[in-house]
Amino acid sequence: MSNSILTLKDISKTFQTNGSGKLTILNSIDFSIAAGDLVGLTAPSGAGKSTLLHICGLLDTCDSGTIKFLGQDMQKASDFTRTLVRRCEIGFVYQFHHLLPEFSALENVVLPQLIDGKNPKQASKRATELLRLVNLENRADHRPSQLSGGEQQRVAFCRALANEPKLLLADEPTGNLDEKTSDTVFEALLYLIELSGMAALIATHNENLAKKMQRRVKLRSGKLFSD
Ligand code: ADP
Repeated sequence: MSNSILTLKDISKTFQTNGSGKLTILNSIDFSIAAGDLVGLTAPSGAGKSTLLHICGLLDTCDSGTIKFLGQDMQKASDFTRTLVRRCEIGFVYQFHHLLPEFSALENVVLPQLIDGKNPKQASKRATELLRLVNLENRADHRPSQLSGGEQQRVAFCRALANEPKLLLADEPTGNLDEKTSDTVFEALLYLIELSGMAALIATHNENLAKKMQRRVKLRSGKLFSD
C-alpha cells in the first residue's frame, strides 16, 4: 500500500512465564494502516492489545517480523531514529489522561510542541485552536484538577495531536469515563482525527464505540482478524 503509514508483517511476540514456559501473545500478525484510516481494535482483557499498541508505537520490540513506518524499516533503525519517529510522528492517548498537574490545559498542549522545537507563539496558537475544537477554549487556564474527567481527556487528545502526528494510538481512551461522557468525549476524538486526516488505531472494549470506526480488527489467541 503506497500511502501506508505503518505496516506490520509477520509480527510475533512471546513472553517468558515462570520457569521455561512461554506465552505467545502475537502470532505472525499482519496489519497495515494508511493516512485517513480509522481502525478500531477490540480484544478480551489479557489478549495482547497493549502489547500490540506498544509495538505499533515503537515503545516495545517484537521477536520477529517487520515494522515499517512510512516505508522505513523500524527493526533496523537506530534507537535515535525510533525515538524521533515516536516523538514526532506518533501520538498516544491512554485510559488515564497523564496530564501534568502543575500546568494549565493550554500549557499541557503547548509543552510537547516546545520540546519539538516550535516557537512559543506558534505553539500557543495551535494549542488554543485545538482546545477550541473540543469546546475547551474557556478552560485553557485551568489546571487538570479543575477539570472534569471528560474535559481532562479532551485536553489529553489535544496534547496527543499537538505535533500533528501521522499516527494516533489510543488505548481505551474513554475507558475511565461513564457511558454518557464516554460517548461525547469519543465523538470529540473522532472529530479531531477526521479533521487532521491522520491514521488512528483505537483500542476499545466497547463494541458500540468500535462500531463508529470504518474498519475494525479483533485480536484473539494471538491472531488479528478483520471484522
Ligand atoms: P491486554 O492489553 O489485552 O489486556 P497485554 O498486552 O497487557 O494485554 O498483555 C497480554 C498478556 O501478556 C497478559 O497475559 C500479560 O500478563 C502478558 N504480559 C505482558 N507483558 C508481559 C511481560 N513483560 N512479561 C510477561 N508477560 C507479560
